[in-house]
Amino acid sequence: MSRLYEFDTLKVQGGYNSAEHNHAVSVPIYQTAAFTLGDSYRADRLFSFSESDPIYTRLSNPTVDVLEKRLSQLHGAAAAIALASGMAAVSYSLLNAAGKGGRILSSARLYGGSLDAYSSLFPDIGLEVDIVENPDDISEFERGIKENTRAIFIESLSNPFATIPDIEKIAAVAQRAGILLIVDNTLATPYLLNPFDYGADIVVYSATKGLTGHGNVIAGVVLESGKFDYGNGNYEHFLQPLWFLRDADDRERSILDVFPNEPFTGRLRALHLNYLGAALSPFDAYLVLLGLETLSERVAKQVANAKAVIEYLEQNEHVSWVRHPYAKDNPYKALADKYFPKGAGAVVSFGFKGTEEQKRKFLAATKVFSYQANIGDARSLIINPTETTHVELTHKQRELTGLSTDTIRLSLGLESPKDLIADLQQAFEVAFS
Ligand SMILES: *Cc1c(COP(=O)(O)O)cnc(C)c1O
Repeated sequence: MSRLYEFDTLKVQGGYNSAEHNHAVSVPIYQTAAFTLGDSYRADRLFSFSESDPIYTRLSNPTVDVLEKRLSQLHGAAAAIALASGMAAVSYSLLNAAGKGGRILSSARLYGGSLDAYSSLFPDIGLEVDIVENPDDISEFERGIKENTRAIFIESLSNPFATIPDIEKIAAVAQRAGILLIVDNTLATPYLLNPFDYGADIVVYSATKGLTGHGNVIAGVVLESGKFDYGNGNYEHFLQPLWFLRDADDRERSILDVFPNEPFTGRLRALHLNYLGAALSPFDAYLVLLGLETLSERVAKQVANAKAVIEYLEQNEHVSWVRHPYAKDNPYKALADKYFPKGAGAVVSFGFKGTEEQKRKFLAATKVFSYQANIGDARSLIINPTETTHVELTHKQRELTGLSTDTIRLSLGLESPKDLIADLQQAFEVAFS
């Protein structure tokens, strides 16, 4: 099934042909570690990459394969690779882009884990990251590119403040430099935004969040546009001949030789997934597939719930500010109109106007909102990010992301907006009683 079909058709049926799976209506879970090789001639073909059937589930699996194909189709991408977590998707992508001695140029407005890995883990393995402190200033991206910078990394909708980078302009900067633009599209989901439409080369997800949407799985995805020129002189590591990629006549081949149409995910699979090993389990792939079936319906409802809650918060005397592109006087309104016509996500933050003690009382008093470190769930969630999800951030990083200790983050789920608003109202009453 190709792009001939609309998004909502592909999200339910894309990438799956039941005739190839005993006519099973629901995608079967291939719960097996390995696959028989048949005869040794077939084994030769499989191990020399001339035939691509599954061998071992760390590298590929038919259930995971359907998920990868479906996501590729939903994005009009050349290829996808599913991984065991969003962090695997982020870190493998950055390592894959950088190769040996390469640097990454990254926005400062990021998921706390990604930002912290830059300073506490990546230098251990020779990966240096430069930070764009103000991603609203495109010239900072221009100036930040060094001779060995191999990728720009941004989030299309940041967490927790739903700020929006001007993706098209940043893509133009990357293109002029001949380097990859990698976009973490987790908060947006492909229902709200397809970053490939605006020049992204690589898109990554934590599928744990809105993509699956039921808070029941940890998963990640990397997709590639298939349009980037890895032969432009910046990606020697894609051209280097490797013994294990040799053909039947023992001639060494490069990643680009073996995976000409999908070099980025091809290299990720051959090296990072193969040797670092964060493989998605078939059962978890099945859960992501199930979640995807209702992506549009869920996210549309969540965006509507976000709108209703923003209106409520804006007239509440105990709220000092509300941050979301739909909030009053939000500076990202114009970018939201351009990139997010269907809504700018369902993560909403606000300033709690009260003492630390009152804030703690408020958090303890919600009954419909669940207090936990996640987003994009079918249930509505609430958290104080400074002390939890973003606890890794130094004071300087906190300042850059604009995080203050009065911040409360909501992730709107699928409940009745009436109950959500009433729940916040009663929690405010408890806190200020
Ligand atoms: C949660 C998250 C991640 C990490 O994903 P996991 O699935 O938790 O490993 C990366 N990026 C963003 C934007 C996230 O919200």
